[in-house]
Amino acid sequence: MIRTRFAPSPTGFLHIGGARTALFAWAFARHHGGKFVLRIEDTDVARSTPEAVRAILDGMAWLGLAHDEGPFYQMQRMDRYKAVVRQLLADGQAYRCYTTPAELDRMREEQRARGEKPRYDGTWRPEPGKTLPTPPAGVSPVIRFRNPVGGTVAWDDLVKGPIEIANAELDDLVIARQDGTPTYNFCVVVDDWDMRITHVIRGDDHVNNTPRQINIFRALGADVPRFAHLSMILGDDGQKLSKRHGAVGVMQYDEDGYLPEAVLNYLARLGWSHGDDEVFSMEQFCSWFDLDHITPSAAQFNTKKLNWLNAHYLKQADDARLAALVRPRLEARGIEVAEKPSLEAIAGLYKERVATLNQLADAAGAFFADPAPDAGLLAQHLTPDARPALADFIAGLKDVAWEAPAINALIKRCIGAHGLKMPHLAIPLRILLTGQAQTPSIDAVVAIFPRELALKRLSAGLSAAP
Ligand code: GLU
Repeated sequence: MIRTRFAPSPTGFLHIGGARTALFAWAFARHHGGKFVLRIEDTDVARSTPEAVRAILDGMAWLGLAHDEGPFYQMQRMDRYKAVVRQLLADGQAYRCYTTPAELDRMREEQRARGEKPRYDGTWRPEPGKTLPTPPAGVSPVIRFRNPVGGTVAWDDLVKGPIEIANAELDDLVIARQDGTPTYNFCVVVDDWDMRITHVIRGDDHVNNTPRQINIFRALGADVPRFAHLSMILGDDGQKLSKRHGAVGVMQYDEDGYLPEAVLNYLARLGWSHGDDEVFSMEQFCSWFDLDHITPSAAQFNTKKLNWLNAHYLKQADDARLAALVRPRLEARGIEVAEKPSLEAIAGLYKERVATLNQLADAAGAFFADPAPDAGLLAQHLTPDARPALADFIAGLKDVAWEAPAINALIKRCIGAHGLKMPHLAIPLRILLTGQAQTPSIDAVVAIFPRELALKRLSAGLSAAP
């Protein structure tokens, strides 16, 4: 049974890189009919906040990355970590070290002065036949892991390939501080062990922790999981992704008007491929996704491609769903959404033309507030030639059948009668009805308005225009 986990530290929002890690861990579990565990690594009390936990849970929910187990909180598992520390002490796999921080500093300085790599000197490490010093009074010890001395730690990383580190490079890791609190690398191992994680899929900023963690797994007699370290995501400009690239928190994408399925589809292709497939559903992704087509090199963000995917999914989306997503955006702008014109019909008409929900809201907003067309636009298009045709159209609109084909016929009749071309009438109509010179097909736009409202806007616009 495959078991994966996503283990964010709640120190900020759900970052786009974290979301990709979560997506891959989730999809891998789904692909194999396994379980996906969510674990909140909140032991950094100074930096973890409940708001950040909320932001992570919201981000996961928005993306639809449902966990099968958890969320587990490390702060609620302290007793368990402490029990495992005691077990390692009893087994001789860990030991009490009374070297004080001041002594450690001095030790490191001397080592540096001698040109050596700074490391703990092993004073308190028990060895067969070695007599340990007497513990000093009044000093609380830290607990160190008794790392193997010889040989190497090796693993076949499922993304990066074989990695091998000499144990000589690894210090005896502190697994519990003077106050008894367990340290980060230790908690991760106990959790992955207890949660029976088979595949650790995470960012490659954790490669350095892996050999230490593997040694602890072995000391515990635990099965060592497989590791897949994902390369980082770079911004559009090839630099490490950061706030200056704009949206890096997942919920910011929601705010900016992206659909979750577009973000998911986009993230899936960041460092993973399936032939030339660019557009696919999460069902397809889960059926295809394995760890063998992940690129070890860094993936570069491409906002254009994300926008293209978002436009694609907006076109596919159900009009009622789009209306429900756009309504709160309009309300947030102080626009009261009336029952008519129908927001759903507006969404249906405009969804082909926009790249984000916010652009859809921009377009829809014009239907609910009286337009205030730009004076230059009016002067340019509401010409003396166009006015009589417009007046005819308004007159005809009073009893035309209220549907796009009949309105279209009326437009044609008016331009024919006045020797005009389509844009001569269509553009002033667009401007007076919506304030914008460009809209979808004008007959469809007119038909979206209730007759009275269309007449009101057109007549008011015609008489007010200079
Ligand atoms: N909490 C770690 C982080 O947010 C992840 C640890 C792990 O996946 O092993 O970077």
